[in-house]
Amino acid sequence: MNRNRLSIIVTSGIALFLATALWLDLIPRAHTVYSDTRLLMGTLVSISVWGHPKGKAETAMQKAFAEFARLEEVLSWQRPTSEVSQVNQVSRETWVSISTELGTLLQRGLLLGQRSEGAFSMALQPLTQLWGFSSEHQDEKPPAKEKLDRWLRLYPTVDAIRLMQKEDKSFHVQLANSAVGLDLGALGKGYAIDQAISVLRKEGIANAIVDAGGDLRVIGSKGSNPWRIGLQNPRQKDQIISMSQLRGDIAMMTSGDYERFFLLENIRYHHILDPKTAEPARTGLSSVSVQGKNAAEINGLSTAIFVLGVEKGLRLLKQYPGSEALLISEKGEPTRTPAFIADWLQEPIKQ
Ligand code: AMP
Ligand code: MG
Repeated sequence: MNRNRLSIIVTSGIALFLATALWLDLIPRAHTVYSDTRLLMGTLVSISVWGHPKGKAETAMQKAFAEFARLEEVLSWQRPTSEVSQVNQVSRETWVSISTELGTLLQRGLLLGQRSEGAFSMALQPLTQLWGFSSEHQDEKPPAKEKLDRWLRLYPTVDAIRLMQKEDKSFHVQLANSAVGLDLGALGKGYAIDQAISVLRKEGIANAIVDAGGDLRVIGSKGSNPWRIGLQNPRQKDQIISMSQLRGDIAMMTSGDYERFFLLENIRYHHILDPKTAEPARTGLSSVSVQGKNAAEINGLSTAIFVLGVEKGLRLLKQYPGSEALLISEKGEPTRTPAFIADWLQEPIKQ
């Protein structure tokens, strides 16, 4: 066989192999991002995967969404069959056996409750229900003052969540106050994001972002580019005020008074509640973003900082090494810790 013929055969062989491999999705297509979105935990959850074959990316995304859906069944107090609802339905003063998963999450949340001196409280479910921000038909008016006062008089602090781990490692919980109920709304989404990332990794995915309504965690990158994350202006929905270029393994979670709210006589009523007043937290902040390794942890941390305000909030942040924060005041003034990754794009609009 002459050299020319041999080289034609070899070249055609390679071309045929590449075409077949591409067709069978065995090799990644350069610069292709595969994305999918689902409505889960009351928000739009988007997953994007970069640099993996289509089939592999899609299978991994399906499994990650399934994990989100499973956790909604465990953690959502709005679902009557969830594990959290089962705890809430049991009469007070009764010990209930719970899964290791829920027990571990409660353990983390209770620690944050202590460190924030009760500003972060997973015991607020009756209060969240009174305000109705988690329901589809919000009344757009505050609950009657007598109802809030009655709730406060029962002194429903986070200490009323009693958690016990037996020698065999099993967890048991007791709600020791008629006015408390479990609400893991400020931890659950972050935990689900962490779990979705773990599922993606188990499926061999190295570059991905899981974004649940602006709360997110990234792994890897988009080739030579980072994942670019815009932060919404708290007072102007369609405007981005900062851009974070994230790569590696990092989460970013935001708590804001613009996520679920209504305005009445120029007063903003929003979904982040101060357990000490039974009212929406008013510490002069409009949003708190936290970056760190663990989405569940910083999910709770952002809520706690929102309730505590700038000074106490930044003190709390120091107890979580590796976490960084960007706080935006109601007037649009930013306060950020030195290693928070963001390019400030513009002075936010004053109210
Ligand atoms: P996030 O948007 O992550 O700040 O979480 C807000 C959700 O957490 C609310 O919808 C409530 O379900 C719950 N929540 C509200 N206030 C608090 C609080 N002070 N501590 C813990 N969870 C809270
Ligand atoms: Mg939060």
